[in-house]
Amino acid sequence: MTGQLIRGRLVVTRWGAQSSAIEMGALHVVDGIVREVGPFDELRRRDPAAQEIGDGTHLVMPGFVNSHSHGRGITTLRQGIPDDPGEVRSVGLRVGLSGDPYWDVLYTCARQLEAGITATMHLDTNYGYGPLEAYEKRLQEVIRAYGESGMRSAVTLALRDASLDDPYLEDAFLASLSPEVRAEVEGWRRPLIGLDSYLSLYDRLRQQFPAATLQLEPAGVGGCSDDFLKGLRTAASARKAGLQLHLLETVYSKQYSFKRFGKSTVQRLADLGFLCGDVSCAHCVWLSQRDIGIMRETGAMVVHNPSSNLRLRSGIAPVRSMAEANVHIALGTDNLTLNDDEDILQETRLAQLLQSPPGIGETPIPAQTALQWATQGGAKVLGIEGLGALEPGSPADLVMVHNRSFDRAVFEDGHDIAASVMHWVRQSDIDQVLVGGRVVVRDGRYVLRDRTELERKAYEGLRQWKLTPATRLIRSQIGERYASQSFGGEPFYRLNARED
Ligand SMILES: [Zn+2]
Repeated sequence: MTGQLIRGRLVVTRWGAQSSAIEMGALHVVDGIVREVGPFDELRRRDPAAQEIGDGTHLVMPGFVNSHSHGRGITTLRQGIPDDPGEVRSVGLRVGLSGDPYWDVLYTCARQLEAGITATMHLDTNYGYGPLEAYEKRLQEVIRAYGESGMRSAVTLALRDASLDDPYLEDAFLASLSPEVRAEVEGWRRPLIGLDSYLSLYDRLRQQFPAATLQLEPAGVGGCSDDFLKGLRTAASARKAGLQLHLLETVYSKQYSFKRFGKSTVQRLADLGFLCGDVSCAHCVWLSQRDIGIMRETGAMVVHNPSSNLRLRSGIAPVRSMAEANVHIALGTDNLTLNDDEDILQETRLAQLLQSPPGIGETPIPAQTALQWATQGGAKVLGIEGLGALEPGSPADLVMVHNRSFDRAVFEDGHDIAASVMHWVRQSDIDQVLVGGRVVVRDGRYVLRDRTELERKAYEGLRQWKLTPATRLIRSQIGERYASQSFGGEPFYRLNARED
């Protein structure tokens, strides 16, 4: 049995409470799967012909799983779409993003792999608007690009129905606008495609790309009718397709739900029987304690996106309360990290620090826990078993870090390896990244394609998006359009101390 031996000065097999690390260790990998973990010398004796990767100086750890992103190589900011709350941004996204999806996805894969992310969740940006043929073609290109990228992925189709509209498309509001602005707002309407047509598209893609993992998303649950959500739920269960959605990202979405349905979005989804263990919910900034209880009871998962939540002024998600309630948590970049890159190591640090309250006697979120969110947390979200760990049976998806970034103290008994990794390791310290035993990043650079060419192609045909009179109007009236009541005094909105 000839395989690979991946050597490390320190091999971390998983993060979290059951984490373990082996000094002078190795992974024995056959056909891209970890078969054994143990001391290098022992594994070498058992498979003398195995190909050796690494010289025994690296830190080897599980690859990161990005549980929420949109496959954007060229970020929205680079396309001219400002950092604004989701309700305003969706206007820019709705008009349609330019550029070639195939090259854009390959470019984001290169960026994510170089950051140590070995698997990613892609929510498609089309938001479920027609024409169907164009969406099908786009998705084919997206799935093809992931297949060729060397990265693991799940691709999610975004769907919505025509029964409910956004508040700025209400007749009374439209009637109040000047003819010029009104024409523009009405132009945002797109032909909507029925659930059945979308599901047959999903089925066709599944047939065409049998190796791809595909999921479904109700895009903007506030804009989806009860019947649509029930139908989608049934269809997803029948197909064993996971579901991901954006949930209570902004205070506006919270207000809109009370205004329109008289209850919180979480309560509404639970009443419809939508929330189950196969549903992951991105952002979750505006959940109440009661909502968190419902998440726990239904088994629905949370994907935390701390940078995006800060940049878009969505707020700070109560992830600590969710963790305390044993809600499943994963981490995602949303293609909107602090530095507008895909730095998942920094994202993990941010997640840990934002959820660690000040004061003596208060305990911080352990580094182990945050690293677990960013690795194993994603396996269930993507629906790909074994991700985020390096144990017998796991895919050999891993990151090899230069030893210059961690110090001797790491090897002393009782030292918190997770804390050291979190605070000392930078993306620039990443040497190699492997997915299924295949080297995809070497010397910190993506090696499967010409990286410069990828970037050039991704930028080709890109049109800068511009603020328009109608967008400015939505920005200025957003509170009024969405709100029916105030949630002043709720804990998750204010950043820090209050003056009283
Ligand atoms: Zn998102």
